[in-house]
Amino acid sequence: MKALIIGCGIGGPATAMALREVGIEAEIFEAYGQGAEDVGSFLNVASNGLSALGVLGAHRQVLAAGIPTPRMVMWSGSGKRLGEVANGLRLDDGTVSHTILRSDLYRIVRDEAEQHGISVSFGKRMVSYEDDGTQVTATFEDGTTAVGDLLIACDGVHSRTRSLLDAQAPKPRYSGLYSFGGIVKDAGVPGEPGVYNMVFGKRAFFGYTVTESGDTWWFANLPRELGDVPEDWKPVLVRAFENDANFSADLIRRSSVDLALPIHDLPPVPVWHRGRVLLTGDAAHATSPSSGQGASLAIEDAVVLARCLRDSDGHEEAFRKFEAERRPRAERVVAYSRTISNSKAAGPVARVFRDLMMPIFLKKSASQESLAWMYRYQAGL
Ligand SMILES: Cc1cc2nc3c(=O)[nH]c(=O)nc-3n(C[C@H](O)[C@H](O)[C@H](O)COP(=O)(O)OP(=O)(O)OC[C@H]3O[C@@H](n4cnc5c(N)ncnc54)[C@H](O)[C@@H]3O)c2cc1C
Repeated sequence: MKALIIGCGIGGPATAMALREVGIEAEIFEAYGQGAEDVGSFLNVASNGLSALGVLGAHRQVLAAGIPTPRMVMWSGSGKRLGEVANGLRLDDGTVSHTILRSDLYRIVRDEAEQHGISVSFGKRMVSYEDDGTQVTATFEDGTTAVGDLLIACDGVHSRTRSLLDAQAPKPRYSGLYSFGGIVKDAGVPGEPGVYNMVFGKRAFFGYTVTESGDTWWFANLPRELGDVPEDWKPVLVRAFENDANFSADLIRRSSVDLALPIHDLPPVPVWHRGRVLLTGDAAHATSPSSGQGASLAIEDAVVLARCLRDSDGHEEAFRKFEAERRPRAERVVAYSRTISNSKAAGPVARVFRDLMMPIFLKKSASQESLAWMYRYQAGL
């Protein structure tokens, strides 16, 4: 059996490797040329995502390239410590959640896949596919085609496959926030390595972590109308943070702010598969980054899909099992993440309420391990 994998982001290579583990050949097709990842931004690979990567034997490279970030401390914009919560759970071997440059994670999973003998073709934007009941043919923008037994869509939140599979499929939903990130070398910012400081500022949200070597990795979420893009983001961001009692405005002044990403998630997508075609990762269930789970979910999907294909009588049964196992979890994460995103974009009244309630909420969630459902999941093969 051969699978065509559309998209070489995070889920694509992970899926190809997982399928190889169960004896299914896979070939990846990526729209962009090599090295087109978003440089400069970084993401959290949560303990559950590292556990799934471990199944594929690719977690060590991620641990080596990333920085451990097992804790989160929440602050108000006025400098009040609101509380602390774990960022993931410690795995049996002691592994904790790590933060890694997006470009490093993309490179690691892609290199791993290529080392497993998986072919990746760049500059192949899929524009359509045809499923004739026995095989599926993907057609790319350059006029070429590829034929396989299955087509697995790993083509991200703006998935072309999703709208081809179901013309009524929901469109990505803008969260009301633009995301920014940067790294300041030797920033001189005090902070405990391993801790993500999350600041619910007066006008926007700011997160930062200080590395052992003294660099500061920061990200910001700014409430903004979609498409309201200024000529220069930096002064806009500095203004949003300059009345907060922390280092945010200063760190932004010292960074280049050239990448602004509008944050989207997806409402529940009714159709995940039809015939020989299946959606996975962000294409099926994109979550806003607030939960730090999007990449981890995509990797979990890869492992679960391989297990379902191995243990089922045909792809249709496998796709049904896959959806039954993954949909409730993915939709719960999306809903959870959306709640956090909404609190980041809170108006003045909601903000006062949030800052009063958060210490109580954090105390409760820290003591009851209430997020164990998210972090303790194990996507075994
Ligand atoms: C600002 C920001 C911060 C984030 N922070 C975190 C975080 O901290 N933790 C976390 O876990 N997740 C985070 N995420 C989410 C995470 O990046 C995604 O959930 C994850 O990358 C999903 O993997 P994927 O493989 O499904 O999609 P992607 O990684 O987006 O990959 C999709 C790939 O498909 C390709 N493609 C698209 N269309 C086509 C086509 N027609 N033909 C061929 N190829 C195509 C794209 O070029 C891309 O390479 C963040 C996202 C953003 C935007």
